[in-house]
Amino acid sequence: MKDKSQNLPIRVYDYVKRKVNLADFITEQLGYKIYWTQQNVSGKCICPLPGHKDSKASFSVKLIESDNVWVYHCLGCNRSGTIIDFCMQYYNIKNAALSAIFICDKLGLNKEEASDFHILHESKNRANIQRKMENAHIVASRQCFSLLKKDYNKYNRWVASAYKKMNEALNNDDIISIEQIGFEASSKFQEKTSV
Ligand SMILES: [Zn+2]
Repeated sequence: MKDKSQNLPIRVYDYVKRKVNLADFITEQLGYKIYWTQQNVSGKCICPLPGHKDSKASFSVKLIESDNVWVYHCLGCNRSGTIIDFCMQYYNIKNAALSAIFICDKLGLNKEEASDFHILHESKNRANIQRKMENAHIVASRQCFSLLKKDYNKYNRWVASAYKKMNEALNNDDIISIEQIGFEASSKFQEKTSV
C-alpha cells in the first residue's frame, strides 16, 4: 500500500504546529476544561490521553510565545509534545506525517497555504533564529541544572537524555524541541516529591 505521508513537505509540520491552538483543540474538539494559570498561555486539565486515568489535572499545556507553538506535558503518563504528537497519541495515528494530514483535514486547514506561510515565517525570523536558539538553550540548561540540584538521583538519567536531545536539536536548528525540553524540566521541577 502506498503511504501518502512520504512526500509530505517538512513545512506542513511547521504550519500545523503554529496554526493550531492545542488548548482550543482540547476544549472545543474534545470537551475538556482548562484551568488557566495564565490566561491563554499556560494551564492544566485532566489528561485526555488514552490509557491514563487522571483525576487531578496532571496535563499541562503551554504556549511557547517566541514560536507561537503550543506544547503539552503530562506528569502522570509522562507524555509530551506538540499538537502533532498529541493527535498521534489520542487518535492512535502511526506517524507524524499522517497526524499532520489528519489535523489539516479535521480542522479544514489548507495544506497548500503551508508553503506561503513557511516563507513568511522564515523571512520574519531568519534574523533572530540564532539568538533565539542560544536563549532557549541557556534557559533549558538552567532548568535541567535546577532539577539536578533538586534531586540528582531521581533526575540525572532524564537530564542526560535531555542534553543529548538538545544537542541534536541545536544541530537541526530545532528551537521548539529545545523549548519543549525546558518546559518539561520546569514541569518536573514543580512536581511534588512526596506522594
Ligand atoms: Zn497523562
